[in-house]
Amino acid sequence: MNITIFGSGYVGLVTGTCLANLGNSVTCVDVDQQRIANLQKNILPIYEPGLQELLIKNVQEKRLSFTTNATTAIQESDVIFITVGTPSDESGKANLTYIFQVAATIGKHMNSYKVIVDKSTVPVGTANQVQAIIKQEQKEKHPFDLVSNPEFLREGEAIHDFMNPDRIVIGVEAKRAEEIMIRLYKGLERTGKPIFITDIKSSEIIKYAANAFLATKISFMNQIAQLCEKVGGDVKEVAKGIGLDQRIGSRFLQAGVGYGGSCFPKDVQALTQTAQEAGIEFPLLEAVHDVNNKQKQSLLPKIQALVGDLQGKTITVLGLSFKPKTDDIRDAPSQTIIQQLLNTGAQVKAYDPIAMDVMKKYFPTIGYAESAYDAAKNADCIVIVTEWDEFRYLDLIKIKDSMKNPIIVDGRNIYDSEEAKRMGFKYIGVGRGNSEEAQ
Ligand code: NAD
Repeated sequence: MNITIFGSGYVGLVTGTCLANLGNSVTCVDVDQQRIANLQKNILPIYEPGLQELLIKNVQEKRLSFTTNATTAIQESDVIFITVGTPSDESGKANLTYIFQVAATIGKHMNSYKVIVDKSTVPVGTANQVQAIIKQEQKEKHPFDLVSNPEFLREGEAIHDFMNPDRIVIGVEAKRAEEIMIRLYKGLERTGKPIFITDIKSSEIIKYAANAFLATKISFMNQIAQLCEKVGGDVKEVAKGIGLDQRIGSRFLQAGVGYGGSCFPKDVQALTQTAQEAGIEFPLLEAVHDVNNKQKQSLLPKIQALVGDLQGKTITVLGLSFKPKTDDIRDAPSQTIIQQLLNTGAQVKAYDPIAMDVMKKYFPTIGYAESAYDAAKNADCIVIVTEWDEFRYLDLIKIKDSMKNPIIVDGRNIYDSEEAKRMGFKYIGVGRGNSEEAQ
């Protein structure tokens, strides 16, 4: 099939590359000329494990190309995916400007029947608006069908998730489009992955409901962690104990420094806004959001409790991306903690295996180290913000010997608190007894 993808970011590039790898002919379109010029030279705008290799392979085999020429791409395609961003506006609502721009472009240049697939995360009812814009912009009336096909990939695992999804959700009302979508995903269905066909509005809600539910799990465990910090108990033990209940499940129960990234924060807010517009109070989601914001701010008091006045102290931040295996720092807890530390007069030294270049644009004046060991030298405290694997197995004795004060504030509970204390660190994690005990 000939496929055009509007938006060459995380979702667009992964979708385009994987669909090309399944044998389709894919053109990725973007309005960002620099991004397309780089992609034409195999330079990717994002870090995603395995993506560059797969992308180059499919470019070489002539199934994948990049362009800013939307007209040709639209006219030569059977299926058009929309994968542009839907960031929050000031009120928390999803900003649909980019979606509507793409809809207008498609309408203007359409020359025959097309299936138009919305893969961006959009509020319920958006497909109807996209449909109306396309109709309004069409010079000649060509038939088309709208499909909602939300994406559930996780950054850092995106290729695997696209090729091995738990489910493929397709919201579609027209039989013709349904058959085309099933044909498109047949290759994945053959590996035992269920295609779930539903109506468009349910499909649009499924994406938000899934993300909001996962965010709720995280905020719930962070609140349990706060309780453990006051009354004792270890949130990791609690997570194991409740996770053994199959109705609850063991995944997504890690307490930490709060969720970030380009999806959960904005999607929780957007769903709250959608509910409000429908006249429904959704206090549960407001609480999920508030708990998360407080959790992002929870490291500073722990650092202060162990280090004292932070003026002039050197604090090492390990991990900048919102989670491991990505360079995405959008709404990352690291941004909150770095800003808080700077406000107290501390010197910040940071290290991340991948995300330092992106972070330099936001915090150009802090120190950036070449390794975790380099970052720890002469530090008064190390703060673990992202649980990159390489931080799990650091030589902590070497780290301790190079620090001015051996203190670890472990925002991801990656170290064994007893072992860290035996080595001579002052250590505090998240939800692992109260702070006096932890020292
Ligand atoms: P992104 O910001 O990485 O990429 C968006 C791209 O769209 C940019 O390259 C931008 O230049 C391009 N763009 C904007 N307007 C355009 C236009 N008119 N024509 C062509 N290109 C245009 O975004 P992303 O992280 O890939 O997210 C895209 C959507 O997918 C969002 O709705 C997001 O919520 C959803 N989503 C993201 C993830 C994720 O992990 N990143 C996972 C699932 C769903």
